[in-house]
Amino acid sequence: WIADKWNSNRTQASLTGDQASHLARVLRAQPGQIFDVVADGFLHRAEVTSVHEDEVVFTLHEEHEADSALPVRLLLAVFKFDHLEWGIEKATELGAARITPVLARRTEKHLALAAAKRVERWRRIVREASQQSRRSDVPTVDDPATLKQLLQTIDEPVKLLLAETEEENTLRAALEAAPQNSSIALAIGPEGGWTPDEMQLFVDNGWQQVTLGPRILRAETAAIAALAITSALR
Ligand code: SAM
Repeated sequence: WIADKWNSNRTQASLTGDQASHLARVLRAQPGQIFDVVADGFLHRAEVTSVHEDEVVFTLHEEHEADSALPVRLLLAVFKFDHLEWGIEKATELGAARITPVLARRTEKHLALAAAKRVERWRRIVREASQQSRRSDVPTVDDPATLKQLLQTIDEPVKLLLAETEEENTLRAALEAAPQNSSIALAIGPEGGWTPDEMQLFVDNGWQQVTLGPRILRAETAAIAALAITSALR
């Protein structure tokens, strides 16, 4: 569980809102029960001291520094929501620090129109996936935006565009050539791929095209494979 509030010496923490009501009403938490709670980026064994539907308070015991996120921002084109949401969940489990949904040229119109209303659901998915995978943090999910709106604001020094390309530049080789501690942006296209205009826009903004090999992967598979490779190399 990820605490919403904690005191300065991290001896006490609370969950509020939906998390508190879930613990109180569904899980029927009782004083004395032990849970794992992340407070201020640290994972603790935590004992419930009081339970109310709007706030569950814990006394924090031993702490372990929880795993930090991968320094990766995933630009994920919006595609069929059920597949996209599965990809968002898995990207969270694999450690992505930030997920930026992109309204690509080949994002289907009705999905592009519905995306803004779906963001709250995506934020819930990453929160739950963070808890399930025992992350100490919850990735940021940005509001969906077009590439034009986005590209100038990407400040990760390593920018890698995943695309089926004739070139031999693999993601692995690009990561090995990049400075070890730099943060990375990875861009995955929609089901129909990036358009030639979009690819040009990426290149004009300093992105490097990289491949995951000769097979064409579904977008969500490409996201998972790219994160797994990045995680192995970092
Ligand atoms: N029909 C599309 C095409 O041929 O352009 C395929 C798009 S693929 C289903 C969706 C996205 O996954 C791509 O835009 C790319 O970002 C990523 N992807 C899939 N296979 C890949 C590969 N072998 N190497 C790099 N990226 C890949």
